[in-house]
Amino acid sequence: MQQIRDKRPVALVTGASRGIGRGIAEELSAGGWSLVINYCGNEKAAEESAAACQVRAIHEGQRFIIVQADISRAVDRERLVETAWTQAGGIDALVNNAGIAPKQRADILEASETSFNEIINTNLGGPYFLTQLVARRMIADARKGQSIVFITSVSAETASINRGDYCLSKAGLAMAVKLWATRLAAEDIGVYEVRPGIMATDMTSAVKEKYDALIAEGLVPQKRWGTAADVGRAVRSLLEGDW
Ligand code: NAP
Repeated sequence: MQQIRDKRPVALVTGASRGIGRGIAEELSAGGWSLVINYCGNEKAAEESAAACQVRAIHEGQRFIIVQADISRAVDRERLVETAWTQAGGIDALVNNAGIAPKQRADILEASETSFNEIINTNLGGPYFLTQLVARRMIADARKGQSIVFITSVSAETASINRGDYCLSKAGLAMAVKLWATRLAAEDIGVYEVRPGIMATDMTSAVKEKYDALIAEGLVPQKRWGTAADVGRAVRSLLEGDW
């Protein structure tokens, strides 16, 4: 099999079927990248994302490979990485984007351990151990311009008492970025954090009216919701600097 990575840089974006992940995938496609598009359960959305990437592609050689994997599960992470290396010839960039909010926001006096474990396993354990697998392969490959991006959140430092599990997962992830940046510096692998604020995606659709009002009152300086394309452009500029 001819490896697409010899022709175009390849990025693996987790949770690239919807929201911010799709925005990142589309922007990278517009920058000439091939993509491994990961999703968890929404295959149709992943196919739509791949089609949207294809529309924005600028080179004939760009390819878009869809891989189902639940990043909170070790066996799925292994399969995702194995597929990226066998089908795409490896990756030049990993974008750890996939994440979940609590199913129900609940005061920390009431919130359940079940929700805590699910959020921590997905938002912190998933990207932390996926990065471990990818970093080992990147070190073995020793290619120039390899990088890893983590999408954390303003919740890494802002206390929200009705979603403590989410805040803890993102604060932990911000430390994971520092750990991986320190460990991989000597390997010449760039490690970056992008920390979005309030973004218009499925994740925030349930609280749209509340934040519409807060944004109108000046909660954020831009006085508008952030978009997936905003984050996509930020990630693209980081990765193009390395590639
Ligand atoms: P979203 O619209 O709910 O999309 C979530 C994406 O993650 C989907 O592609 C989903 O796949 C995937 N996903 C969920 N669980 C997964 C798992 N276990 N394994 C693999 N993929 C999984 O969320 P979003 O708003 O774009 O958020 C993306 C990231 O940005 C998250 O890490 C979130 O914490 C962070 N963030 C969001 C905001 C915001 O305001 N929205 C602000 C700051 C940071 P399926 O389509 O298959 O379900």
